[in-house]
Amino acid sequence: MVKSDNNMIDIEFDSPENIKIYQEKLLGKALKYLEENSKYYKRMFSRYEIDIEKIQSIEDLVKIPFTEKKDLQLFNEDFLCCKKEKIIDYITTSGTLGDPVTFGCTDNDLERLAYNECKSFTCAGLKPGNIVQLMTTMDKRFMAGLAYFLGIRKLGASIIRVGNGIPELQWDTIKRIKPDTIMCVPSFILRLIQYAEDNGIDYKNSSVKRIIGIGEGLREQNFELNLLGKRIKEKWDVDLFATYSSTEMGATFSECEYGCGGHVHPELIIVEIIGDDNMPVPDGVYGEIVITTLGVEGMPLLRFRTGDIAAKITEKCKCGRNSYRLTPLIGRKNNLIKLKGTTLYPPAINDVLDNTEYVENYVIYVQDNESGTDEVIVKAGLKYDTDFDAVKNLKDRFRSRIRVAPTIEILTVEEIQAINFPAKSRKPIKFIDNRKRYIYEKS
Ligand SMILES: [Zn+2]
Repeated sequence: MVKSDNNMIDIEFDSPENIKIYQEKLLGKALKYLEENSKYYKRMFSRYEIDIEKIQSIEDLVKIPFTEKKDLQLFNEDFLCCKKEKIIDYITTSGTLGDPVTFGCTDNDLERLAYNECKSFTCAGLKPGNIVQLMTTMDKRFMAGLAYFLGIRKLGASIIRVGNGIPELQWDTIKRIKPDTIMCVPSFILRLIQYAEDNGIDYKNSSVKRIIGIGEGLREQNFELNLLGKRIKEKWDVDLFATYSSTEMGATFSECEYGCGGHVHPELIIVEIIGDDNMPVPDGVYGEIVITTLGVEGMPLLRFRTGDIAAKITEKCKCGRNSYRLTPLIGRKNNLIKLKGTTLYPPAINDVLDNTEYVENYVIYVQDNESGTDEVIVKAGLKYDTDFDAVKNLKDRFRSRIRVAPTIEILTVEEIQAINFPAKSRKPIKFIDNRKRYIYEKS
């Protein structure tokens, strides 16, 4: 299903009609594969009396129920479509209910990921000869870092796997190997700039000319740079590219040089945009991104609700691609939190705190930070005075469990108690969401 031959005509430049026909052919194959191999979807098809032969077009997908993130958690093993022996790489993502969800990638899935990233990097202008410094984690059960490595290898460009953090090592590497491209969580660039300024590094004249961001947006809805993008660009005149991807999608939406939305790779994924009534909205209208993977062997997903909100742009892009694009994300459904590039739900945070013996009570605050991403502040009351640094210890616990650490403040048990049980509330309040709520804009 994945074309490995780079000389083949890229479907993204074909007409929208041909792209749709092509996708529907792949959808038919994907449905058949699910019916034959997926315990979860076999059960769904029989329970809802779904005849996959009758799902001929993308519009027909509305006949199939959604798959929710909690389903992945509750029935994790039932989503696996192949024998365990076929899995090469195990990955986890954070689940809605606290525990992580496990994904398995087969050899073909890794090839598909390589193909996806190869196309995305090409979209962002990378060619053989470019040198990419990878400032993301390659291990810790993440998919992304490995996928980038495979994609750059496939593209024939060069890669330096420095991993996340450690500005000193990043700058030492830039000086030694002279990468032209950085791949990282965009807010890390601000730290990198700060370190350079503090240490007299002439970063403005470094070899770096391009930054590809992951996990955090860089643009507003009109495609102008957002606050974070502007703060980077003001200091450092590099080309910025935003991408949107997730483990569940196994696909990346990458901006081209015109920076007007992330291009979908039609051979890898179908995107529906769903409104409040659970029905697809017209192109250009905001709704929840619902995805169906194409060509996935290990854990393919059908109509998976991502919780992210965006709109589809269907007019031809200036780069010549006819593949539809997604606007920058404008918000998230439910309580989904994006903390430093990692997606998680409040129960994952509760879980860490509930399993820390010296924490008596706590409250979790989420708010927008000035970079336009989420900020999480955990206020905790302690059962007893610890003889170690409780803030540091808690941060370590968060990092080992959910990879990122929120801001931690220690208050008295009584202070937390007052927040947990305000006079009029019968239910304890442990989660306070102060983020701006986005309303769907009907265009
Ligand atoms: Zn384009």
